[in-house]
Amino acid sequence: MSLRETARAVASGKLSARGLAQQALERAEAKNPALNAIVRLRAQAALSEAAAIDRRVAAGEDPGVLAGVPVLIKDNLALEGTEVTACSRILKGFVPPYTATAVRKLQQAGAVIIGQTNMDEFAMGSSTEHSCYGPCRNPRDVACVPGGSSGGSAAAVAAGIAPLALGTDTGGSIRQPAAFCGVVGLKPTYGRVSRYGLFAYGSSLDQIGPLTHSVADAALALSVIEGRDDLDATSLAAPGPAHVYGEGVRGLRIAVPREFMDTSKGLRREVASLLRDLLDRLAREGAEIREVSLPVLDYVIPVYYLIAVSEASSNLARYDGVRYGLRSGAGKSLAELYGRTRAEGFGREAQVRVLLGTYALSAGYSDAYYKKADRLRRHLRGRMDAIFRDVDVVVGPTAPDVAFRLGEKLSDPLSMYMQDLYTTLANLVQSPAMSVPCGEVDGLPVGVQIMGRPFGEADVFRAGTAAEQVCAAVS
Ligand code: GLN
Repeated sequence: MSLRETARAVASGKLSARGLAQQALERAEAKNPALNAIVRLRAQAALSEAAAIDRRVAAGEDPGVLAGVPVLIKDNLALEGTEVTACSRILKGFVPPYTATAVRKLQQAGAVIIGQTNMDEFAMGSSTEHSCYGPCRNPRDVACVPGGSSGGSAAAVAAGIAPLALGTDTGGSIRQPAAFCGVVGLKPTYGRVSRYGLFAYGSSLDQIGPLTHSVADAALALSVIEGRDDLDATSLAAPGPAHVYGEGVRGLRIAVPREFMDTSKGLRREVASLLRDLLDRLAREGAEIREVSLPVLDYVIPVYYLIAVSEASSNLARYDGVRYGLRSGAGKSLAELYGRTRAEGFGREAQVRVLLGTYALSAGYSDAYYKKADRLRRHLRGRMDAIFRDVDVVVGPTAPDVAFRLGEKLSDPLSMYMQDLYTTLANLVQSPAMSVPCGEVDGLPVGVQIMGRPFGEADVFRAGTAAEQVCAAVS
């Protein structure tokens, strides 16, 4: 059932919200031990919130467009009265006194939050192996990672525990796990969804978005969580509706950067040929496919990692043992308290990034690193604006290959970072981008990435719906 159908069945009394919550909790109990996708379930709260939805239905009130839909949220989104840790030891025991705007909007639309999902610590990673709760596994093959950093959200949706989960995406963390687990993942335009209550990683890159089974479900979820929020000065009212269905792709202009399909840069040959098949079928449906050139692709990983670690080093400075979570008691001076708390509280990957970011921003180096990266970022934005003057969407792979095995890339950070080759561009230029399942290689899912111009989600959904249809017709 789609989210819309589920909510309608609840609103008409055919299904009970409590029953749906109960069922989701039972599935979580049954499936989570093998996956470690969920780090906390809120059984009692979820059941009583669901019962309140059922009472609204019985009283003849409108229970909302997501009435009774069980939802999971990533563990870096504030939820009042519940522990939220971003899967870091440094936040163990932290209970935020407020709820993230996107989560509150889901609740107001009748969704029932059943728990919180596993992730790479502070969203730094591409495999959900850097978590203080241990690694998450891919439901399609438990020897493989689910991708990251929103791996728990993707795995839980793919395993059928809940039909909707929220993730966050700074450089691909919604789209790459969606691709690895065979679900739809959307990173909205920067500013479309309020970041209030999201534990910041890279503030100029972070966005919250949905993981779902279909493009239609992603569009519905976006319509609930989007909008200007006075609590996030970077949030904006979307200039138009995001939902366009049933239009087909006749006349839709699709650009395919040559560099996105280059198998000499690490793209698996079988993934490239799957994408070519999909593009051929979209062309037969009437889409106009154009090859474009994007030589700056060679620079996106260094640019992204310089900007992301610089922003992270500043954002993570607040975790110092004084205000939140863990405090190491052994220090004799304030500096020692900070040092010990951060040494004990942060995992290795977070420490590496704080050190790199501090270096990139330090006097004498910031011109050579941070500022140069920022200039290149502006250049990328100009290049993408020029491409989007002639086309509606840019299409390519979401990730270079299918899900890899646990442990495979842990000792080789560069190969882990190369996972983000196709995804970080959208964050750098603040565009919307979505991954849609488009087939399998070696029995594991492959995703196609569809990127739009800022606030061009309608075109992204249109192309995504068409991709869904042509892929369903083949399988
Ligand atoms: N893998 C990228 C990183 O580690 C992206 C993570 C994200 O989008 N949060 O920074």
